[in-house]
Amino acid sequence: MCQRSPPSYLEVMPQQPLAQVPSDVRWFWQDLGSCRESDPLLFFHPQRERGSARAKRDRGAKLVCAGCPVRLECADYAVRAREPYGVWGGLSESEREVIFARLDSRHYPRAQGEGLRAAAREIAEAVSPRVLGIA
Ligand code: SF4
Repeated sequence: MCQRSPPSYLEVMPQQPLAQVPSDVRWFWQDLGSCRESDPLLFFHPQRERGSARAKRDRGAKLVCAGCPVRLECADYAVRAREPYGVWGGLSESEREVIFARLDSRHYPRAQGEGLRAAAREIAEAVSPRVLGIA
């Protein structure tokens, strides 16, 4: 009879990408974020959430971000850190994936403010009335 030990955590869980936190990051804006009063589950999807359920939750998070006083700081951080999960600065995961794919990895924006400049169009559009369905 084969004696096999139970699978380790690494065998069961897929390898998760991690954010690449820039060395100059400052976190003051997190204390001012509108999401401090929100359920974190609104901003981070459950493992198997797809389709309309994900779109609906993302939209709810974006509505919070739309009125947030530190949205640009948050979006800049998320782009620079290549945050893989959650809604940050009004940008959903799929919106950030489009940005990450477009940006040249050799000259990736890492310094403060470079994320905003590199993804200005997407950041502005992320919480537009059209995207939020309130146009
Ligand atoms: S922009 Fe959104 S995710 Fe970022 S701090 Fe504000 S409410 Fe939170």
